[in-house]
Amino acid sequence: MRHLVWFRNDLRLADNPALHAAMDEGEQVQALYIDCPGQWRQHGNSPLQRDFLRRNLQALSEGLARLGVPLELLVCEHFDDVPERLSGWIKEHDIDALYANRDIGINERRRDKAVQQALNIPCRVFNGDCVMNHGSITTQSGDMYKVFTPFSKAWLSALKAQGYRLLPVPEARNDACDPADIALAGDLQDSGAWDAGEQAAGQALARFCAEHLLDYGEQRDFPAVAGTSRLSPYLALGVLSPNQCLAAIENELGSLPLGRGERGFAWLNEIIWREFYRHLLVAFPHLSMNRAFKEETEALQWSHDEDGFAAWCDGRTGYPLVDAAMRCLKDTGWMHNRLRMIVASFLTKDLHIDWRRGEAWFMARLIDGELAANNGGWQWAAGTGADAAPYFRVFNPVTQSERFDPDGEFILRWVPELKNVPAKHIHAPHDWLRKQGRESDYVPPLVDHARARQHAIAMFDALKDEEEA
Ligand code: FAD
Repeated sequence: MRHLVWFRNDLRLADNPALHAAMDEGEQVQALYIDCPGQWRQHGNSPLQRDFLRRNLQALSEGLARLGVPLELLVCEHFDDVPERLSGWIKEHDIDALYANRDIGINERRRDKAVQQALNIPCRVFNGDCVMNHGSITTQSGDMYKVFTPFSKAWLSALKAQGYRLLPVPEARNDACDPADIALAGDLQDSGAWDAGEQAAGQALARFCAEHLLDYGEQRDFPAVAGTSRLSPYLALGVLSPNQCLAAIENELGSLPLGRGERGFAWLNEIIWREFYRHLLVAFPHLSMNRAFKEETEALQWSHDEDGFAAWCDGRTGYPLVDAAMRCLKDTGWMHNRLRMIVASFLTKDLHIDWRRGEAWFMARLIDGELAANNGGWQWAAGTGADAAPYFRVFNPVTQSERFDPDGEFILRWVPELKNVPAKHIHAPHDWLRKQGRESDYVPPLVDHARARQHAIAMFDALKDEEEA
């Protein structure tokens, strides 16, 4: 039997259910990655992530070659071209069965359905991206939870009851073969600041658990501190699996922390957030279609302030922590979670600009761009999403800065204009700069936060009034 493993967002050998089953059940196994540059552009993912994809594919190809599994790259411009091209490829290579792990976006699911209809060989699809399979964590009436806390309780109960399954790297069945040379067309931006490959991801995971897991709860909100795992680029491409994260926690602590307040639980909780957003994306396809989770919020009257948007993108809002965060994103392609929340709140609640524009800007820059988490995060901040921040709770960019970057350490890494400002004035430096006669050192605040906050609340109130009417 000749089996094909079609790799997508699961670029790893270990804990890969599709690869594992194909190797277990087939005499000969081949691997394929289908690159769709046009689709990549349409989804708006970044050139930085594309380069990271390329390097991780190269590492995967080398790992597969050691197992005797050749990886080929097939290029189709769009998902629409995949069924026909893949059918042809499968006939040419005399494949008996196709193995793949589930992809969750709506375009990916439509593509997969069309592929299954076009092929006349068995297609076996596995869950490789979540600890708990999509659709398995539901309310008593079988619906997807719309609020995180009950979802997480049900998720933890399922984990207690059934545990999780970690698959090893399959054993080589054939002699080693030559790895492919992976070249991807289109815009690529050097991702060399991040080590590629599952070995590097595994090392980063082990290092994080040994050094930061226990302090994560206390440190995770401070952007100047390296207190979070920075594993998101690997999780987004499936170079690392969430089961591997659980195994690393267990390895570090001796057991999994399954209750709030237990040491190490705070990090496990983030893995559950990741699953929440992925389960939501599968259960509510409109999330993949640029639409708000709460459909009534489609009537919000967003601003079309192009200058404001450009200032936000470039880090010129006059709010130091917002500017530092946006400059960091532009320069490195990564941003700390606390800062993602602050800048997303600023765009939507201070500048009143549609969350979709921020979502797209993030996607076009991030190395860890990922539809479920990015859409979930943006809609949470905008107040349009499942379990979103209540609309009247608007982040204050100055007090957030005082709390989470108290000495201005992060600000000073990215906003050198403020290097002479004393720490206690750095969060809102304009009065101090004015008194020194140096107001030209740094851009003035784009908006008055208190007034902008009132306007944001009024926008949502108008929505309620409309509904009642
Ligand atoms: P850690 O704190 O170490 O968490 C471990 C892992 O848990 C992360 O790598 C990630 O996979 C997952 N995770 C953590 N927080 C969240 C969360 N709130 N939602 C979903 N998963 C989470 N994450 C992405 O992976 N891709 C995105 O495109 C993305 N866009 C975001 C946009 C906004 C507006 C917001 C508020 C959040 C976004 N996040 C996104 C979630 C979160 O900010 C990042 O996952 C996190 O900052 C990555 O850093 P880390 O790996 O050090 O995370």
